[in-house]
Amino acid sequence: MAIRNILTQGDEMLTKRCRPVTNFDERLHILLDDMKDTLVQSGGAGLAAPQVGVLRRVVVLLDINQEPEEMVELVNPEVIEMNEQVPTVEGCLSVPGKYGYVERPTWAKVRAQDRFGNWFEREGEGMVAQCFCHETEHLDGHLFTEKVLEYVDLEQENAE
Ligand code: ZN
Repeated sequence: MAIRNILTQGDEMLTKRCRPVTNFDERLHILLDDMKDTLVQSGGAGLAAPQVGVLRRVVVLLDINQEPEEMVELVNPEVIEMNEQVPTVEGCLSVPGKYGYVERPTWAKVRAQDRFGNWFEREGEGMVAQCFCHETEHLDGHLFTEKVLEYVDLEQENAE
């Protein structure tokens, strides 16, 4: 297992559409394990493979709806259902220090495969639903900054 370098906005890799995973092999398992280590070390909520320079449809995220919170692996994920979207503050490990309001659902459901290729569905609320959408967009080469309604200065808000 290893910590991988997280690419930041301006890197071309973050603008590419990722290919579906077709081989559920050792190589995929190493990628998932590395991404989980990298996410834990970064302190973020979710990480998509293109953020570590791999153009495959792979995501890891922290499901804080569970007690204790659970690290979830999503291979070839697709958001299949969501409720009404509301402006929600968001950030991204690839866009350090920037936060802004983005329209996000407060509940969503994804369909994905696990590391062995088995399909499953998973629901998430709040930040988890937000993460399903944010990470899936990474796989299509999109960053949240394309959707920001208004930037916020978190440090400023905390000080007030
Ligand atoms: Zn991100």
